[in-house]
Amino acid sequence: MVDFSLSTEEREVRDWVRTFVQRELMPLEPEVLRRERRGEPGLPAEELTALQLKAKESGFWGVQTPEEYGGMGLSAVLTALLEAELGKTFVPFRFGGQADNILYYANEEQKERYLLPTISGERKSCFAITEPGAGSDAKAIRTSARKDGADWIINGEKTFITGGNEADFVMVFAVTDPAKGADGGVTCFLVDRDLGWKSEPIDTMGEWGPASLVFSDVRVPETQILGELGQGFTLAMQWIGRGRYLLPARAIGSCERLISMAIEYANTRETFGAPIATRQAIQWLIADSGVELEALRWLVLHAAWQVDSGMDSRHAQSVAKLYGGQKANEIVDRVLQIHGGMGYTRELPIERWYRELRLLRIYEGTDEIQRRTIARNLLKGHVKVSGVLG
Ligand SMILES: Cc1cc2nc3c(=O)[nH]c(=O)nc-3n(C[C@H](O)[C@H](O)[C@H](O)COP(=O)(O)OP(=O)(O)OC[C@H]3O[C@@H](n4cnc5c(N)ncnc54)[C@H](O)[C@@H]3O)c2cc1C
Repeated sequence: MVDFSLSTEEREVRDWVRTFVQRELMPLEPEVLRRERRGEPGLPAEELTALQLKAKESGFWGVQTPEEYGGMGLSAVLTALLEAELGKTFVPFRFGGQADNILYYANEEQKERYLLPTISGERKSCFAITEPGAGSDAKAIRTSARKDGADWIINGEKTFITGGNEADFVMVFAVTDPAKGADGGVTCFLVDRDLGWKSEPIDTMGEWGPASLVFSDVRVPETQILGELGQGFTLAMQWIGRGRYLLPARAIGSCERLISMAIEYANTRETFGAPIATRQAIQWLIADSGVELEALRWLVLHAAWQVDSGMDSRHAQSVAKLYGGQKANEIVDRVLQIHGGMGYTRELPIERWYRELRLLRIYEGTDEIQRRTIARNLLKGHVKVSGVLG
């Protein structure tokens, strides 16, 4: 039997977050916009922490962190539902108590120094694989790590690193054996900022920016290898694949809010003596957006369900990411169009979402790379055109 309903517990958790977003986050929106327009962070770090601690009082801490590490260990489906709720506001909030999935590969000593303080919020990490000459083609990275006695000397440049300017340590991927390359010759190192790497923020069309990182003869002890020597590329792919469904999950909430704004505006804005909602041209924009949002919701939940079921969910996640990136951008464009000149102003947050949602088509695998994966899976018969039901 296919069951699309939520359990009582899932509904309660989802509803708690819905209320949190309405009561604690949405009231901050005007101030977030004012700050961003002054070029300041919309939600300063101390305010984010205060909100995270408030959520923690009600048990919302480490949404996907295993319970043995003090987290909630929620399912992928429930996490997707929570992301969708958070996406209803542009206030840049995320729950505290999370650490990168690959940090769980740390040995006991590394766990004490990196994993646990990251979960508790004392330390900030960043993940660095992309380079100026290697984005989609991550196997082309050139950053090198050369053995020198008991240490490794890292040289190279990373770019577009989320949190790279704020992080106090980086999980950096470097070539340790050029002959093997990505196939056994790339290693991940945990490198504290005080070992000497430098960062520079990158200005973007969004309200937050990643950073470029420079490693110039950065000496790193052998003990800083995360996982095994030469196995870094596998770790990198695990990090990237950790929750691709969560990016379009957040977009579900944004699209819900945007379409609601469009409906309200269409019902009240009058031209030629009648609300624009009475015009078929506007109705079709609303109809297409509603259908696509519904399809996106089920693609995301289906991918999350595959994760929870222990299936190989990579194809379903690529499908949800590609569709979400494309459709969220089409929807925000239609909503902007429905608002006419007002949509183009900074009085409304639509243009902000327009800029923010654009990123969804680029990071963690561009549209083209998702299509490449999807096509390869279909052409080589890795997945069936008939889907999981056969
Ligand atoms: C805001 C932001 C945050 C990011 N955060 C991180 C981070 O934390 N850590 C990190 O390591 N990286 C991060 N990235 C990097 C991101 O993953 C890359 O930008 C992305 O993978 C694309 O790589 P690229 O920019 O080099 O584009 P390229 O790979 O140069 O691609 C350029 C264009 O060519 C297309 N293309 C490439 N190859 C093919 C192909 N085979 N067939 C068809 N079309 C192709 C692409 O789809 C794209 O349209 C971030 C990027 C941004 C913008």
